[in-house]
Formats: sequence, C-alpha cells, structure tokens
Amino acid sequence: MTAATEPRTSALARLWRYGRPYRRRVGWATIHSVLNKLFDLAPPLLIGLAVDVVANDGDALLDRLGMTTQRSQIVGIAVLTFVVWAFESLFEYFHNVAWRNLAQDLQHDLRIDAYGHVQELEHAWFQERSTGDLMAVLNDDVNQLERFLDIGANEIIQVLTTVVAVGAVFVILDPAVAVLAIAPMPLILYGSFWFQRKLEPRYEAVRAQAGFLNGQLANNLLGISTVKSFTAEDRETERIATESDRYRETNRRAITLSSAFTPLIRMAILIGFTGTMIWGGFEAIRGGTLTVGQYSVLLFLSQRLLWPLTQLGETFDQYQRAMASTNRILDVVDTEPQIVSGSTRLELTKGDGRVVFDHVTFSYDDAGNALDGVHIDLPAGSTTAVVGPTGSGKSTLVRLLLRFYDPTEGRVTIDGHDVRDLHLGDLRRLTGLVSQDVYLFHGTVRENIAYGRPDAGFEDVVAAATVAEVHEFVMGLPRGYDTIVGERGQKLSGGQRQRISIARAILKDPVILLLDEATSAVDNETEAAIQRSLDRISTDRTTLVIAHRLSTVRNADMIHVLDHGRIVEQGTHDELVTREGPYAALWAVQTGEAVRHER
Ligand code: ADP
Repeated sequence: MTAATEPRTSALARLWRYGRPYRRRVGWATIHSVLNKLFDLAPPLLIGLAVDVVANDGDALLDRLGMTTQRSQIVGIAVLTFVVWAFESLFEYFHNVAWRNLAQDLQHDLRIDAYGHVQELEHAWFQERSTGDLMAVLNDDVNQLERFLDIGANEIIQVLTTVVAVGAVFVILDPAVAVLAIAPMPLILYGSFWFQRKLEPRYEAVRAQAGFLNGQLANNLLGISTVKSFTAEDRETERIATESDRYRETNRRAITLSSAFTPLIRMAILIGFTGTMIWGGFEAIRGGTLTVGQYSVLLFLSQRLLWPLTQLGETFDQYQRAMASTNRILDVVDTEPQIVSGSTRLELTKGDGRVVFDHVTFSYDDAGNALDGVHIDLPAGSTTAVVGPTGSGKSTLVRLLLRFYDPTEGRVTIDGHDVRDLHLGDLRRLTGLVSQDVYLFHGTVRENIAYGRPDAGFEDVVAAATVAEVHEFVMGLPRGYDTIVGERGQKLSGGQRQRISIARAILKDPVILLLDEATSAVDNETEAAIQRSLDRISTDRTTLVIAHRLSTVRNADMIHVLDHGRIVEQGTHDELVTREGPYAALWAVQTGEAVRHER
C-alpha cells in the first residue's frame, strides 16, 4: 500500500535490518568465501612460478628462502601447491557450512516470525488475501531467499574477489595485457544479462504451462467418476495431450535460447583470451617485461577472470527474486495488527457474564451497514436468540463480540467492560463458539474434542462427548477416541462433526456460549439430538443462539428479530407469535414447511 506513495527502503536494507542478529555470521561466511577464492586463484601463480624455475634457471626469491637448487625449488612449489589446495578445500567446506546454515536459520526464523504474526492479524486482513497467496509467502518466498543465501550470495562475493584479485595481478604483471583481458568484460556482462532477460519470459511460460497442466490433471483425477460415467476418457486424454504438447513446445523455445548462451558468450571470452595470448606472447618473446612463467599466469588467469562473469546474469536474477520475496515476507511481518488486545484481565464464573450490544453500528466496507444501531441485552445466565433472514447481520454480532472486528459505532460489553479493553486471551477463553462450519483438524477424535483444553483428562473428554451425544458413535469407530478424523474431518458426516464441535465447546466450559446456526446443516434427527445437548449446556450460561429455523429458539428467554441490520421486533416466542409481525409470518411459513415434511 505504501509502495506507491512513499519511497521504500530497499529489500536488501530491510533484510539487513531484520537480520541484525545474523550480521556477525554473514561477516564470518564472507571471510571464508573470500579466502576460498584466493586459495583457488593461487595455483595458476604457482604454475607460472614452476615454469620460470624450469625455464630460467631457478627463482631468486626461492633461492633466498634457502631452496638453492632448481629441484628443491620445484619440490618447494609442489608442497606449497598442496598446502594451497588443502586450504582451498578447507575454506570451501567452511563457507558452505556457514552460508547454508545461515540460510537455514534465517529461513526458519522468518517463516516462524511471519506465521506467528499472521496468526495475530485480524479477519479483515485475511479477507484481502487468498490462502494460496499466503501459503506462497510462507513457503515459496521463504525458500527463494534460502536458495539465494545457499549459493547466490557466495557466488557474488567470489566473483568480486576474482575481479579484484586477478585485476591486481594483471596490473602488476603487465597493465597493457590487463586492458586486453578486461576489455571483453562489459560485453560478457551485457550478454549474460541480455540472455537472462530474454530467457526469463520463456521460463515463466514453462512454469505457467506446467501449473496449467497440473491443474488440468488434478481436475480430471478428482472428477474421474464423472469422466467415466460420461465415457469421456478419450476426450480427456486428448485434452491432456494438448496441454502436455503445449508444455513441450514452451520448453522447446526455452531450450533453443538457453543452449545458445554458452557457445555465444565463449566468443566474447575468446576475444580476451586470444588478445592476451598474442600480446603477452609477443611481449615474452621480445624478452620485455614478461617472463615465460608470467605469460602462462596471464593465460590461465584470463580464463579464471572471464568465465565466472557468465554466471552473473543468472545469479543476479536469483538475487532479484530473493529480494522480491524478501519484500513480500517482510511486508507481512511488518503489518500492524488492527485489532490489538486490551489490558483488562477478566475472570468470570458460570452464571456471570452479561453481554450488551450497546447501540452497535458496523460495516465491513463501504457497501453499507451490516448492523445499524443494534441494541441487545443478554442478561447473565440467560438464553437470548437472534433470528432473521440470511444476510440480516446475525453472524456479524458474534464476530463483534469475539473481536474479529470492532464496531464502527457503539460498543460491546461484558459485565460493563468494553470488549476492546479486555485482554484478548481472556475474552476468547470466556466465550465458546459452535458454528455451522465446523473445522476439525487432522488428528484423533480425542485431540479434536480437547482442542480448547489440550491438558484435559480422558474422562473429561468422554464426559463432554456424552453430553454432546457423540460418545456412542465414537465408541463404534474402529479405534474409538484414537480414530483419525481425516483432513477437515472428512471421514465423518456433517452431523458427527457438529457433535464433536459441541463436545469441544462443552469441554472448554465457557461462561458465554455462542451458537451460530449450529443445527442448520444437519438432518432433523441429528438436529433433535444436538438441540437436546445444547439445551443441557446452555443452562446457567449466557447463551446467544442464532438461527433461521425458529423451532430451535422457541424456548429462548428473549428473541430479537433482525432485518437488514436492524432489530425489528423482540419478545418471547409466545408474544411474537401472537403479534402478527415478521416473526409470526416466518413462523407460519416454517411450521407449514414442517407439516409438509411430516406428510
Ligand atoms: P447473517 O448471519 O444474518 O446471514 P451476516 O452477519 O453474515 O448475516 O452478514 C450481514 C451482511 O454483511 C450481509 O449483507 C453480508 O453480505 C455482509 N458481510 C458479511 N461478511 C462480510 C465480509 N466479510 N465482508 C463484507 N461483507 C460481509
């Protein structure tokens, strides 16, 4: 949101700030990367030295170090080469371990931070984002950064080290040759970035087509019974073949270009290499500034200098992706929650908890008010019902009480405390919600019932299940309370899920019970059973029942009829039925329905 209006800090700076505890480790890893590269560049120098020892009758420096014969000098150089390579290997190990562990720790911290933060954010925020999008941030984006830190960071540091170290050696040996070797650099850099830019959309197309093909396959496999029942197998195979063919074609386009990269770039490198070869060779023959050994050093090093540059395009691309990902992750981490916990601690015992919706007005967006000056008083320990057509604002009341949203005007209070002042943990502990869409987690029946009180003993779980009239059913399952309910509880029927969610609420034993269309998605028999258990558990609890089936609210102490966000009627069932208002009309329709059912 802020991106368009104010200049943003760069992703790297944001990451640097976030990764403050890691800075020392970044420094440490960098040192090892540099040392590894320096040791990697040393052997060509030693080869040059060996050549000079053989061709020029020994080396003065080695002579001074006590190696007076050519043979001893060669042995000395060999030992040094061995040591250098040993160090190169050692530092390669160190920098790998350092960068990769750093990547692991940072990705872990970022993911946990981002996830923890997401859990704190309010419902309105979630509505603006799709689950897929959030999953992508918490997984793909985090992994993208991990990949870059794994390899890319080291690569950039090592290319820089190479350019500086080799450049220095060249300038010392022969500045003219240095110019020749460095001349193709811009060409190589330009070429590799150009390729990267051209390749990018082609790879993008490959990924898009792969996703599309995947989607099509998943669709077909999920709908396999429909495919079979319409004998559409051939048609579907044809369709998959078409998509698969497109995938092959998009890949072909990427292959044509990416395969040309190395051969073409090699031409540019050749310019530098042959230039160095000819010029340096002439110099060495002339007996000028270059010795034979130095000439060979130049030849080796010009290759070592130019080849890594070809990697830069790809590494840079990885870098940019990692930074884009960093921005996305840190945007989530930096989002300020709009619903923040109050500080008032509140402990209530059963029978307490008067809830008042005090002239509450609320709108989700600019589309109009979902609630408009609603005033409802729920005396402690009583059962209050809110009925009304779909979309009249009933569930919104529950969301405001639970502080999924805050009212635009007015306030919601519990025993006189504005819910905005209450500690969120206390508020949510005091309230128990049984709603129409039950969410069960992949786990056992027991774990699902005990979700609000993980430390509950087995007897308590059984007791809650018994009140919810689900105990017998559970005992009939192959593994009883240890039966796995499947993802989202899909191994159970709607009614069974609902009863488990009621057992869950019973075990939580809240002071304020909220029943939001708890029985609307089940058959009549299940409804009767659920109704019985709800009647049992709502005694002595402040209970808010939301329903559009009026049979479920008949016994409520007070019924409020909501329409288009306003209270249009209130009273007991008997009062309302005789009043010939909207409630009586609804009642007539629904009892008529009931009569039809019975016939
Ligand atoms: P009910 O529970 O009576 O069926 P709701 O309280 O769910 O009604 O919704 C009341 C009104 O608010 C409806 O017009 C609905 O379209 C709108 N609404 C509900 N949830 C949202 C939301 N998250 N964003 C925007 N509008 C919403």
